[in-house]
This record gives sequence, structure tokens and C-alpha cells, in this order.
Amino acid sequence: MVVQMDVSTVSRPNTRTTAVSETDSRFSVPLRGVAVDEQTRCRHWNSELDVVALKFTCCEAYYPCFECHAETTDHEPEQWPRERFDEPAVLCGVCRETLTVEQYLDCEDSCPSCGAAFNPGCREHRHRYFEQ
Ligand SMILES: [Zn+2]
Ligand SMILES: [Zn+2]
Ligand SMILES: [Zn+2]
Repeated sequence: MVVQMDVSTVSRPNTRTTAVSETDSRFSVPLRGVAVDEQTRCRHWNSELDVVALKFTCCEAYYPCFECHAETTDHEPEQWPRERFDEPAVLCGVCRETLTVEQYLDCEDSCPSCGAAFNPGCREHRHRYFEQ
């Protein structure tokens, strides 16, 4: 196992860690996570493109990633159910608009509201967030 220096949280300004039962007051939706910046990058995913947060139905709150959910709550995650794909469950950290799951899955890796580019690699992890 390679040990990496954690420089990411140092170089990113205005990060905040919020755990259950609090939510991050900078966002208008309930959101928590580890070392979250103002565009919803987190300790785990913080490239230029990592600017979405995803809602979990178990606690009806947004998290930048699955690992943020694991570290800031005390329960098992539940995927967003298919019958609710027409509800807002994805937050664009750049423009702060919420997208429905359908909009997000159809958006070709850029925000339909502001055009911000999203990380195409997130496609590989969709099964962790959305019911298949
Ligand atoms: Zn939860
Ligand atoms: Zn995270
Ligand atoms: Zn946007």
C-alpha cells in the first residue's frame, strides 16, 4: 500500500467537515461530508471536475461521495430508488442548482444549468448512488 501525503485538504481553501446530525450551512440543501469545499469537492474526490453532491434516501441529505456518507453518518447507505428518479437528488456545486437523477444521467458529464464539466469517471460508481 502506498502512503500518500494528504496535501489536498491543505491546498483547498474554505473546507469544512460536517457530520450527522448537522448540515453545512453554506448550502441551501442539507449537505455534509469531509473537508468539503464551496463547490462540493471533498477529501476523497477533489479534482477540478469533482463538483457534484448526491442525495442519499436513508437520510435525505447530500454528500460529495459515498465515503463522505460512511465517515459522517452511523448507518448503512441506501441508493436512490428508481421510482424517484424524477426528483432532485444531484447538486451542482458550481451553480448550486439541483438536478433530477434523470437530468444527471442524461447530461453527458456537464451541468445542464451552468455547463460546468463533471467527472466522467463518476459513471463507474453510479451503482453506489442510484438503484440500477
Ligand atoms: Zn444516509
Ligand atoms: Zn468524499
Ligand atoms: Zn451547474
